[in-house]
Order: sequence, then structure tokens, then C-alpha cells
Amino acid sequence: MKILVRGGTVYSRGQAASGDVLIEDGVIVAVGDCRGLTGGARIIEAGGCHVLPGLIDLHVHIDDTIGRFRLADTWESGSRAAAGAGITTLGGFITQRNEEPLAAAVERAAGRAAGYSFCDYLWHLTPTRFAKDDWADILRLQKSGWRTFKFYTTYCESGLFSSYNRLTEIAERLTPGGARLLVHAEDEGVLTLAQARSAMPVRASDHGRQRPPEAELRAVERVAEIAAATGAWFHIVHVSTPEAAEAIGRARGRARLTCETAPHYLFLDDSWLKRPDGHRWLCTPPLRDAGRARRLREMSGAGAFDTYATDHCAFTIEDKDRGREDMLSAPMGIAGIGALPRLVFALERERPERAFTEMSLRLAENPARLAGIEGSKGALAPGLDADLAVFEIADQKEPIVSASAGSPETYPDFHSRLRLRHLFLRGRQLIADGAWSGADAAQGRCLWTN
Ligand SMILES: [Zn+2]
Repeated sequence: MKILVRGGTVYSRGQAASGDVLIEDGVIVAVGDCRGLTGGARIIEAGGCHVLPGLIDLHVHIDDTIGRFRLADTWESGSRAAAGAGITTLGGFITQRNEEPLAAAVERAAGRAAGYSFCDYLWHLTPTRFAKDDWADILRLQKSGWRTFKFYTTYCESGLFSSYNRLTEIAERLTPGGARLLVHAEDEGVLTLAQARSAMPVRASDHGRQRPPEAELRAVERVAEIAAATGAWFHIVHVSTPEAAEAIGRARGRARLTCETAPHYLFLDDSWLKRPDGHRWLCTPPLRDAGRARRLREMSGAGAFDTYATDHCAFTIEDKDRGREDMLSAPMGIAGIGALPRLVFALERERPERAFTEMSLRLAENPARLAGIEGSKGALAPGLDADLAVFEIADQKEPIVSASAGSPETYPDFHSRLRLRHLFLRGRQLIADGAWSGADAAQGRCLWTN
């Protein structure tokens, strides 16, 4: 089946041009002036609209248990909220439990997404055991197509911690196979000292003291050294402080280092933690002070972040409210999956063309490269998957909604004029004229194992 998206402004790989996009059998076949190629095509008029590649959020936590708490989203609800915002590819996480082999962890997680996801998806793998057999498993998965791995320089108590020596070994063993190593960078030593000084019970407004900016800076500097020494590609997730972002900027010349930040570090600050319901905004790393948030926004305008990702980690209101008296009894994480495109657009809302160009770069091309899926995703070009998000700028503002699964709203009172008009995943239309268009079954594919 042929579809012509006609007469929009087409943004791809950081460039904008007027033109059409022609789709056939789920693949883009032509971009630009498509007159003469369109016989029999269904026409979607995109005049006045902004046509982007389907957007990519590489950092979402969905349908998993974190500590004692179950996440609020299933793949069905999470991917539907993502698609409703213009996202067609998601990056989830598979974490090995202590008692299980890695392959069992993969099976456990993959079964929750297959047949339920409206978006295509891939996985970042967190091995937690490194005996000889475990290494054989890791290398086998890498050989069969798994490219991204995620490690933590903190969370000793939950068995996720990797020492800097371990990260060096991982870098040396996985780099020849082309791995990208995602790191949650907060230095465990700095955190332990900071937490030992805290009074009990710990309130939400104390979170910044519990996990100070120095912890992130210290870990980023150590990871940058490892990247420079090993030649490995490290990607720092959810950078929350300008100090860490500057350290990454300084190291880029000598190390293969990329990074992301999450919109909540740009648009929210620790004043939210001081509200009576401030515990609902607890996440790690914590929200920082207003000066740091402002500085991060300035740095984002100067291109400090290769990509933006939500770290979507929604819990129910009931579970979040366990942190009302004592922060330590609450699950950490906030919703964001549905808010990503509108918040990234808001970074440059006074200059819409620049905002869309940036989105094509930092929410499509760059994350596709990071995940190694640029051969099928992340741009509007012949031969790539027909993942398209068609946006318009409406006269009326609408509330920004971060999630759909009964979790507290992360961005109350935030509004946007950016509206999603159409969305295609491999040529199947998920949103038509702003409404869910009945993709009858969740047909998202796992991009690693097909
Ligand atoms: Zn995360």
C-alpha cells in the first residue's frame, strides 16, 4: 500500500525542506518532490505541518519491578502514551536478577513487550554476574545482535553496582563487538558519605543533600578516564548537573563519550520537592536547584546533550505516597513518556523551525546512532522504516500529560501548542487527524532479535 504525505516541511538529520514523503509497504521510498511517483497512493495533506521521523525515547522503565515496587505501566499503556506523543521507538531495560542466568532475564522481559507494544523497541541489558559462564552468555547475546548495555556506579545494596575496575573490564571485553555502554553515573563513595550525614526520617526536600552534584561529577570524570583509556563508547544517562555536562564536554576530544539529559532536569527544580506533595517528584538523580536547571537549559541550547530521554519510571499514586513521611520508603522515579516531544519543543518554542530541526537530530538521528539502528530508524530517507510523526502548531494550548497509567502528573500546569496530527509506524497509521486510529493490535517489533 502506497501513502503520500504531501506538502509539509520535512525535517531530517538536522535539515529542513519543503516536500513530500512517499511510503510503500512500510518503507520510505522517496522524499522531496514526489509528483509523478504517486499513482494509486492514499494522500495525507500535510500543508502547514511539520513532518519528522518517528521519535525515539531510549530510556524508559516499563512493566518491571524496581526494589519492592511494581511499575505502573505495562508495555501496552506505556507504548500507547508514547505513540500518542509522536514516539515510535522505545529503549527499555533488562536487568539480570541474582538467581537467574542472563538468558532467563531476557526471556522474562521480552515476553512482557512482545504483542503488547505499539512502538518498536530495543533493550539495554544489565548483567549483574560476571563469572566465566556469565561472560560466555553476555558475549553470545552480543554476537546475536544486542548492542547496548547499562551499568550503574551506585546501588550497591540492590546488587546493581559496578566498580570502576569492573567497568574497565567490561569496556575491554565488549568494545570489539561494537557495544555502547550506558552508565548511571553517581559515585557510590560520595553518596555513602553524604547519606551517613543525613538525619532520619529523610524528607523529599533532603534528597539533593543525599545525592549531591559532586557524586555525579566524580563518577563522570572516572568514566571519562575509562573511555579514554579503553576506546570504548560510553553514554552517560540522565545527566542532572551542569558540572557533569561540562566534564563530558571537556572529555569529548579524547574519549568516545555521549550523554543524555531528561526533561525534568531542565524544566523542574528542587522547589517541587519542598511542596507538601513533593515526595511525588522523587527520582534519581534528584531534581537540582533552580540555578543548575537554568544552566542546563542554556547548555542544551548550545548542544551539550546528544539526546533527550525521559527515564520514564511511573509508579502508582498509592506507592509514591508511601514517601510522604520518609523518603526512604518511597519508590524513586517519575513519569515522562508522553511529555518528551512537547518539552523538547518548548526549549526552542520561540523559533519553531529550529525546535523541529533539533528534534529531528536529538530525538531521532542521534538516538538511532547510539542504539546502532540508523540503518532503519531515525531519519526520513529512502529505504528506512516509514516511521513518521506529523506535527502542527495549534492556536490553543493543551495540557502536557506525562503518562496514562494512574501515576502522579509530573508536569501539572504545563501547556503546549504542539499537536501530533498523524503518526506512522512502519507505514501503519497509529494517529490520524489527532485521534488514535485503531491500530487493532500492538505490532511493535523487537529491533534486536528479528
Ligand atoms: Zn533509568
